[in-house]
Amino acid sequence: MLDRDSMQKTRLRTLVGLVDRQVARSSEQASTPPGRVALGELMEPWTELVQLLALGPEPQVRECPVCHQTGMRAARLCGHCWTKLEPLAPAALG
Ligand SMILES: [Zn+2]
Repeated sequence: MLDRDSMQKTRLRTLVGLVDRQVARSSEQASTPPGRVALGELMEPWTELVQLLALGPEPQVRECPVCHQTGMRAARLCGHCWTKLEPLAPAALG
């Protein structure tokens, strides 16, 4: 079962990823020295912010084959309908 905190962290990871991509794209396109300096000044607090959030990797989840609710991948029972779940191999990382 995914609690409110996990869902917020999932959302935060998505947002951090979006900003990261946007910053990377902007730094490729910043052709002027002032542009690069401005991005450098943005990157410092941004990097610290991401470290402070300490989101860690996305938890591995699975869908219950019976009720289709999402739960932890390592769970042996569905947290919603209590169906016994077959163990799954851990998802490949990366
Ligand atoms: Zn279920």
